[in-house]
Amino acid sequence: MEVEAILSALIPSWSSVILLFCYFGYLAVAGSVLPGKIVPGAVLSDGSRLHYRCNGLLLLLLLLILLPTGVYMKWMPPTVIADKGFELLSTTFILSLIVSLILYVVGLKSKNQSSSLRPHATGDFVHDWWFGVQLNPHFFGIDLKFFFVRAGMMGWLLINLSLLAKSYEAGTANVSVILYQLFCTLYVLDYFFYEESMTSTWDIIAERLGFMLVFGDLVFIPFTFSIQGWWLLKNKVELTKAAIVANCLVFLIGYMIFRGANKQKHVFKKDPKAPIWGKPPNVVGGKLLASGYWGIARHCNYLGDLLLALSFSLPCGASSAIPYFYPTYLLILLIWREKRDEARCSQKYKEIWVEYCKHVPWRILPYVY
Ligand code: NDP
Repeated sequence: MEVEAILSALIPSWSSVILLFCYFGYLAVAGSVLPGKIVPGAVLSDGSRLHYRCNGLLLLLLLLILLPTGVYMKWMPPTVIADKGFELLSTTFILSLIVSLILYVVGLKSKNQSSSLRPHATGDFVHDWWFGVQLNPHFFGIDLKFFFVRAGMMGWLLINLSLLAKSYEAGTANVSVILYQLFCTLYVLDYFFYEESMTSTWDIIAERLGFMLVFGDLVFIPFTFSIQGWWLLKNKVELTKAAIVANCLVFLIGYMIFRGANKQKHVFKKDPKAPIWGKPPNVVGGKLLASGYWGIARHCNYLGDLLLALSFSLPCGASSAIPYFYPTYLLILLIWREKRDEARCSQKYKEIWVEYCKHVPWRILPYVY
């Protein structure tokens, strides 16, 4: 595509606005009325707790029934998202700019709220707008942070499915396309199956909601995590049998580490005596788990996520660096995040953290980092 054509495709359209509002409207309404486990979040600085309705999987499955119905009724073609890719991207970007500006203004104005919602403004506009002012802003009872990440993850799957429809139409849906689609679909389904464990992640418990998170959730996750899918639309890759097997192994090992580590921490937080790998856990200072994956490296879950990210790119072969954007970005993000989490934990747990680091010296990858 020429630069001129890309620029004209980037012009936002009203049809994209309508599509996005239908999507967000569905998530808001269905998310509020459909049943789901009510999960208490982490304890906030004032001792209170937010509660999350974890019905993301139900919402997604219902959407996956409604969308083919819409296609069957000819309300929209299955390739609508892939066809409108660039204009949806620019429309979502403008929307995240507007949303983060509103969050900034509302955050500064909010008064008489619980300390968890109290503004954290520094007075520096760029900093406060970028990182956000409030930790847990709500809109009509909806926790916006939880809502946006849900929208981003589901959006990623919807983009992929539309790209799959496009590949199928063009007759280019080969093994590479199927592997990429399969791995990403399993990852997103797994995410919503274990949505409960999201309530104890860094983003939810520690990050304020500003442009960084809004943009990350609404634009970055769906549009850049799917780069491989867009790339495979234009590029045909023939994988050898050995490459297919290796690719599946990277996915399976990555998944085992990623899910295993996140699950172990989640179980430990609920019941610090619960066995890990069939044995009583090794606990440092009564608070930090030093068994299982958490005894191998301090952020083994990041290692698993990085292997998964790599497995989403391997179906594209090695002819171009473009499909490797996601694992490269994730590597940088997780190294940065690990450093920030390390600083937070060392401040929170003090000498217990020092003790834990002695027990588990590796940050992400044993013997390397
Ligand atoms: P973690 O789930 O690793 O959570 C870190 C927190 O866990 C710490 O702040 C601390 O919180 C607690 N903790 C740390 N070590 C221990 C221990 N040994 N025992 C008990 N508790 C401990 O971090 P994230 O929220 O960043 O990541 C969650 C998942 O999300 C990861 O798998 C990550 O890969 C994934 N992720 C994916 C991204 C993507 O773009 N694909 C982006 C970011 C994350 P506390 O104060 O509660 O003790």
